[in-house]
Amino acid sequence: MSTGFAYELLRNDGAARRGRIDSAHGKVETPAFMPVGTAGTVKAMTPEALGETGAEIILGNTYHLMLRPGAERIARLGGLHRFMAWPGPILTDSGGYQVMSLAKLARVSEAGVAFQSHLDGAALMLTPERATEVQALLDATITMALDECTAWPCEESTAAQSMRLSLRWAERSRAAFPARRGYGQFGIVQGSVYAGLREESAKALTAIGFEGYAVGGLAVGEGPALMLEMLEATLPYLPAERPRYLMGVGKPEDIIAAVARGVDLFDCVIPTRSGRTGQAFTRRGVVNIRNARHAEDPRPLDEACRCPACRSLSRAYLHHLVKAGEILGAMLLTWHNLVYYQELMAALRRAIEEERFAAVAAQLGRELAGGDLAPFG
Ligand SMILES: [Zn+2]
Repeated sequence: MSTGFAYELLRNDGAARRGRIDSAHGKVETPAFMPVGTAGTVKAMTPEALGETGAEIILGNTYHLMLRPGAERIARLGGLHRFMAWPGPILTDSGGYQVMSLAKLARVSEAGVAFQSHLDGAALMLTPERATEVQALLDATITMALDECTAWPCEESTAAQSMRLSLRWAERSRAAFPARRGYGQFGIVQGSVYAGLREESAKALTAIGFEGYAVGGLAVGEGPALMLEMLEATLPYLPAERPRYLMGVGKPEDIIAAVARGVDLFDCVIPTRSGRTGQAFTRRGVVNIRNARHAEDPRPLDEACRCPACRSLSRAYLHHLVKAGEILGAMLLTWHNLVYYQELMAALRRAIEEERFAAVAAQLGRELAGGDLAPFG
């Protein structure tokens, strides 16, 4: 039976995939990048501005929202889409990763994760069932199964134990998932840097059956080469007719390399967090706008960019805003970075459609490695 949550694979170019997700909250052209809206807001962006960047789907963080303002309260207010005025698709994480990294005294057992809120110290428990319920209260378009994200480095025996616990949690998450037309739930492949464990995890999750699959536990310190090796050890065991999501990635060059291997969805705090610390992503690589070389530079950050910072403002002005700690500096650089990421994804989608992915990826890589403009004057 159709769940109304559809993924259509439109075209392949090598292993790269051009596809489309159709959900209860609209379509997502893939490969796609999801800006991170941690606490019901993509920091420094209004929902209108976010839409104008080209983003079609955003990510919300279950852990933050369940603690404040609370999932039940958001449900009473009509769900996260209405609460934050983002009508498009929203993917929520399961909360597990942040419980284990942010909460106090997190203890993992077969039942779930017991922890203390980092806000008020309240003793709480996140189980696969509760994580799934919270995401339904938030009205997440895409719900993630609760998993344990293994730390890195990690012994193979520990990674195996943890991955199998995540599989048992995935079964419980699936059983708790309320099927609604146009909504989906993704399972998460674990297994650290061990190809055999990754294969086992991917096959077992496929046997449970989800609307999509995520690759988790990567980009945690293992480095890009090992990350790509693990993608190659995982993706062939996932069904081609379902979307694949690489969690927490990443830098532009990592996204390009992962799309080349068949990943459809990405999320990362890099463009938004960097925007608040004076780092701008451009076709010519990362520009640190705090650097004194920009203090009297009348040129835009990137003359080809359509964002408000580049259309009418100079590097000198952005430099001044960031040096002076002005809120507008963080807003403009966040906006610019999100436009850069969305334009990158659009370029990759076009390249796959035109079956020129390898050439376009190589050209983008050369531009990124080529570095910024020479200093002005
Ligand atoms: Zn710009």
